[in-house]
Amino acid sequence: MKCNQKGCDEVASYRFTWPGNDEDGICENHVGQLIAIASAMGMHLQVIPISEHEKQINDAVVYGQGVLVDGKHLPVTEVAKDSEGDES
Ligand SMILES: [Zn+2]
Repeated sequence: MKCNQKGCDEVASYRFTWPGNDEDGICENHVGQLIAIASAMGMHLQVIPISEHEKQINDAVVYGQGVLVDGKHLPVTEVAKDSEGDES
């Protein structure tokens, strides 16, 4: 999982869920901004740090290897569907 911010290529260090949306990832550089936006909107945003193990999985996705997701082995092409709109 990569950071969901436009133009950011960092691997996500945290995951979060906006109400009504799928879980997404955010990097160390953007997490503070994200929390600030949420609190400015009066929302409580749950941000969960991604463990080292999960980071390794993230790296595997980012660097084009297969990956385990929820205990299932998925090819990267399957996982990469997640990151549309990431073309910059
Ligand atoms: Zn970022």
